[in-house]
Amino acid sequence: MTGNGSGPRAPVGVIGAGYVGLVTGVCLASIGCDVTLRDIDAAKVAALNDGQVPIYEPGLAELMAEHADHLTYTLSLERLLERSEVVFIAVDTPSTYSGDADLSRVMAVLDELERVGADARHLLVMKSTVPVGTGERVRAELDVRGLDQVGYCSNPEFLKEGAAIADFLEPDRVVIGAFDPAHAERVAELYAPLGATIVRTSVPSAEMVKYASNAFLATKISFINEIANVCEEVGADVDVVAHGMGLDRRIGPAFLRAGIGFGGSCFPKDVSALKQLAGNSGYHFQLLTSVIEVNELQKRRVIGKLKKHLGALEGKRVALLGLTFKPETDDMREASSLVLAARLLAEGAEVTAYDPVVHGSTDRLKGVALKPDVAGAATGADAVVLVTEWRDIVEADWADVRDRMRTPVLIDGRNALDPVRMTALGFAFEGIGRIPEHVGVTL
Ligand code: NAD
Repeated sequence: MTGNGSGPRAPVGVIGAGYVGLVTGVCLASIGCDVTLRDIDAAKVAALNDGQVPIYEPGLAELMAEHADHLTYTLSLERLLERSEVVFIAVDTPSTYSGDADLSRVMAVLDELERVGADARHLLVMKSTVPVGTGERVRAELDVRGLDQVGYCSNPEFLKEGAAIADFLEPDRVVIGAFDPAHAERVAELYAPLGATIVRTSVPSAEMVKYASNAFLATKISFINEIANVCEEVGADVDVVAHGMGLDRRIGPAFLRAGIGFGGSCFPKDVSALKQLAGNSGYHFQLLTSVIEVNELQKRRVIGKLKKHLGALEGKRVALLGLTFKPETDDMREASSLVLAARLLAEGAEVTAYDPVVHGSTDRLKGVALKPDVAGAATGADAVVLVTEWRDIVEADWADVRDRMRTPVLIDGRNALDPVRMTALGFAFEGIGRIPEHVGVTL
């Protein structure tokens, strides 16, 4: 098989067709690889075989349809192994109760590989985020199971949901950790058409790049959130402060947006897993302990702001606008909205909510009245909290929102609105580190 003029490239298998696996498979198909995706979720595989995309990710449906000839979806690991040589593992690695990464899905894949019989043709490539040391453990497990001919590499994924395709196809870097340079070369060949910078290293270093990167980004978020909280005390505007800081090339502008804390399927669990990994190795990672604590407190500060305006929240109606952990995804894992909703319900508040892609209540949103639009959620509310900066929420008719509310209290949890305009519209407005009278002060 020839891929975009870069020479023959190995047929690819992907175990786990979730956010990462599906994007990996579809993107590799788009650069000329033949890809077989396997999942254990029968409904997901059936949907994929029907041409439906089981997740919301911009551009994915179109790319999937365009390269359908290079994509096969199956429940069968045998079929995947028959059809592929380089086999990515992209199963979920959630947190355990202790905060460590749960590797049970990864280990289940090894059991299956032993049963089905992987062989010397197959090179396993770990895309799932796994703690440092996992690769060595997997290597040892493969050897014990008589799969010593099966190769192993680490190739952590850095894509962001909502921009996953561009992140995959135009990566800042591709990190490949290998025990054998020939294996690293086979993985590098798959990525060749991207022309990306490739970092080749040992398996533990590759695993650590992923955790250290996510921990650093989370640290940047908690840092700017603390700066925002201080801004509120001293009369500075965090947006201007972040802009001024970000122009310093040593700092950079990314991830300096203050808000109500990070959520999602990666940062909370990866930061916690790195903290536990350090602790299990005898090192107390003090900075990460603070990053996590600051993030928890940041979500709760919204409750304090609501109480400042409304007093006790019992019987008050609060509308949450945006439920996913960020815009352009349907992912609700560890979303700040879930913490806020639970806290508000515990305070005795009534909670309404709107999100453009969350329809139909789930257990996680028990007690929350989902509405079909911003206007519906805001009607009769004592306060509105902008939780996720979806475009249709930011661009809502805010004068209409105000008219529909019982009391016009507006908390902008993502600093996505103009405080001066919102105050002029008659809202009692709270941003994060943005006090209307200090906003936009330039000399
Ligand atoms: P996900 O839950 O969306 O997908 C995992 C998929 O694996 C599910 O569809 C599940 O059914 C399937 N699965 C589980 N066991 C299986 C098995 N034995 N065989 C086949 N399929 C199996 O998870 P995700 O968000 O795609 O994350 C996958 C990994 O990638 C995690 O380790 C995560 O930390 C990492 N990661 C995620 C992101 C992200 O933004 N979501 C970014 C970078 C890295």
